[in-house]
Amino acid sequence: MSLHSDTFKHLWFPFTCAQDIVDFPPKVIVRGDGVYLYDSEGKRYLDAIGSWWVSILGHCQPRISDAIRTQLDALEHVMMAGFVTEKALELSQRLASILPEELTRIFYSDDGSTAVEVAMKIALQYSNRRKAGRTTFVSLTGGYHGDTLGAMSVGDIPAYHNLFHDTFKSQLYADGPHCYRCPAGKKKESCSAECMESLERILAEKGESVAACIFEPMVQGAAGMRVYPAKVLTRLGAACKKYGVLTIADEVAMGFGRTGRMFACEHADLVPDIMCLAKGLTGGFLPLAATVVREGIYEQFCGDFSSGRDLAHGHTFTGNPLAAAAACETLTILQELDIPASLGKKTEFFQSQLNSLWGLPAAGDVRSIGMVGAIELVADRRTKKPFAAEKRIPFRIAQKALDKGVIIRPLGNVLYFVPAYIITEDQIAEMIEVTKESIGEVV
Ligand code: PMP
Repeated sequence: MSLHSDTFKHLWFPFTCAQDIVDFPPKVIVRGDGVYLYDSEGKRYLDAIGSWWVSILGHCQPRISDAIRTQLDALEHVMMAGFVTEKALELSQRLASILPEELTRIFYSDDGSTAVEVAMKIALQYSNRRKAGRTTFVSLTGGYHGDTLGAMSVGDIPAYHNLFHDTFKSQLYADGPHCYRCPAGKKKESCSAECMESLERILAEKGESVAACIFEPMVQGAAGMRVYPAKVLTRLGAACKKYGVLTIADEVAMGFGRTGRMFACEHADLVPDIMCLAKGLTGGFLPLAATVVREGIYEQFCGDFSSGRDLAHGHTFTGNPLAAAAACETLTILQELDIPASLGKKTEFFQSQLNSLWGLPAAGDVRSIGMVGAIELVADRRTKKPFAAEKRIPFRIAQKALDKGVIIRPLGNVLYFVPAYIITEDQIAEMIEVTKESIGEVV
């Protein structure tokens, strides 16, 4: 397909400013294979971010493709009210077998944002049925939970959310963990999760009005892959328990092995009341999400017709069997490859390569956990002064890397890496080398 000025005239791209479409026309991708994508001109790109963190087993994983094809020959879809497909059923059993045993009930939806919407709605209905007045949520600064209105109301990334926060005045925001710029001046290793004092204060004052606390376990992704210690989760869990506030762990980005555990909450032995899953669930093939809850929560929704207790929620494609087939095969492959346990050596290599980025003068912070890593670029390492946003330094670096055949993307002043688990050591080295060169050319 050849690109000319009219090619994109009917498209509205997500998270993309209109002038960039003119200045940096999006690549038309025609094929994928493992960690590589190929554009319409035959150029190859190493996808270092797993296409927004979904491609955990590589593009066009043949067994997942086959599983979808097989399902396609039998049935494409049936609504999930009064009906269910074998694949949707099988997936619920497969998921339950890898989830913490307390999390037993699975509600399907379409993507990360809908998984969060469902979680919030369940929390509101559950909490209010037990005691009226729990009408609000508490979330953490730097949090991101999706772009639908409910999910946005518990997000706190200024560039995405500030425009909308006036609409959600009742929501509460507690300090999130921001280790590189810890307001308490603590070091990760020696802190006592002082950042959670703000959550404790809010819950002590207003806990009675809070239905749930929602958070991204171990890594605040969209905030710039802010990795934080497990003790923060432990303290968060304890505070919520004390005030009878449900915990919603948003594992949309970090679930399925990304942080070195199957679910990131496991780092703190925290079993949330509700967990949100999406992204890697289908190996990145099709949209599918799951909101999973403890049986005790589900029981509040049980009763006969006259009880009016059911959850009045559903999406047209809930439990789609093509997506469920992709997810079942993804789980089978994860199990066969013994992921995340078997990633140990690769993770060490990945992290040692990342650590070599410390040698760059603009490296303010280099952070990683499991198979996710990031470098935060600063104008002044001593003062941690960021580069002026209008210089678009990380964006320009990512463009350079793209020219060199590696896909990385900026999040503010952060460049990050979320490659498929099947990436080889040579490919990891290439990804880091190209990033270094690109940083060197721009900064
Ligand atoms: N929660 C988290 C933690 C996410 O990272 C994202 C997406 N980046 C979402 C929710 C929303 O997922 P989706 O884009 O699939 O709606």
